[in-house]
Amino acid sequence: MQRTDIAKYGEFGLIDHLTQNIKISNKSTQKGIGDDAAVLSYDGLKTLVTTDLLLEGIHFDLTYVPLRHLGYKSAIVNFSDIYAMNGQPRQITVSLGVSKRFAVEDLEELYAGIQLACEKYNVDLVGGDTSASLTGLTISITCIGEAEEEKIIYRNGAKENDLICVSGNLGAAYMGLQLLEREKTVFAGADNFQPDFSGKEYILERQLKPEARKDIIDILAQNDILPTAMIDVSDGLSSDIKHICKQSNVGCRIYEERIPLDYQTAVMAEEFNLNVTTVALNGGEDYELLFTVPLHLYDKVSAIKEIRVIGNITNPSLGECLISRDDTEIGLKAQGWNSLEGNE
Ligand code: ADP
Ligand code: MG
Repeated sequence: MQRTDIAKYGEFGLIDHLTQNIKISNKSTQKGIGDDAAVLSYDGLKTLVTTDLLLEGIHFDLTYVPLRHLGYKSAIVNFSDIYAMNGQPRQITVSLGVSKRFAVEDLEELYAGIQLACEKYNVDLVGGDTSASLTGLTISITCIGEAEEEKIIYRNGAKENDLICVSGNLGAAYMGLQLLEREKTVFAGADNFQPDFSGKEYILERQLKPEARKDIIDILAQNDILPTAMIDVSDGLSSDIKHICKQSNVGCRIYEERIPLDYQTAVMAEEFNLNVTTVALNGGEDYELLFTVPLHLYDKVSAIKEIRVIGNITNPSLGECLISRDDTEIGLKAQGWNSLEGNE
């Protein structure tokens, strides 16, 4: 593939080149890229702001992550945070630190992924910053979104007896990562080795090209369901439900048998000798929505295909626990991982 030295464009030429075909589609974007600052307008709505910093070698590994996927995922994780507040993402800014190792074509790939995510979720790219760096690639994305004040959902609103619900399934992204890491070591040993990923596409996609659950936010709104608390599952179910419990000052019971799992996740966990419940509890990067709703909405939420009721909120004195398949109570601690190891 052709590799064009970034120096050939210079900083301003590079920004122009990467952003030349970016279009604005939200009316709240009054001025996008090109001036000293973007101008936004959210009449009568609240503004939501979230940001993420991604460092090569810490948050991503370019040996198996294509730059286009990295761009897509970097944008998606920010959208997910806005949806987790029950808002709609509208704009992002993208800041890059780029070492000499990267060519113009690499950044084109990264931007193709970012722009694809923006188009799919109707978000405008309105600015950023670009700098040379000594080593590696650094990506910082800030996302701005909107919400009606009374619709914003915080982590601190869960009440005793509320139902705990989660979208989609859990643990798949983590098993995708394990698979990629394993093949990476094999890769290093043999030239021209092409790993066979057939039958494992779903878990790889969950790791490399995750989606944010805008669909769930829309379905909840259509059904007049306003959760009492919500968070997106980025660190893992165990740690994320604990955030809700701590901030809401409540306890919880999660039923192991109700945790939604995909078939490929279970197969891969077995192959790696991992307890699949442990994977679902602690895997992370699922970007599913975890939320609580009042008990009387049981029939309504249960009727939604992509949502599963997995437990209930309790008095804080009962703590945060998992009820295992054989009906024992296990504390959802940071050591939840250890206490589950060896089960089954
Ligand atoms: P300044 O010197 O005022 O920081 P820049 O030359 O860095 O301005 O940026 C010029 C314009 O290009 C601004 O609108 C900025 O938001 C935008 N921009 C800079 N870098 C990026 C990037 N990586 N992606 C998108 N827009 C960018
Ligand atoms: Mg700048």
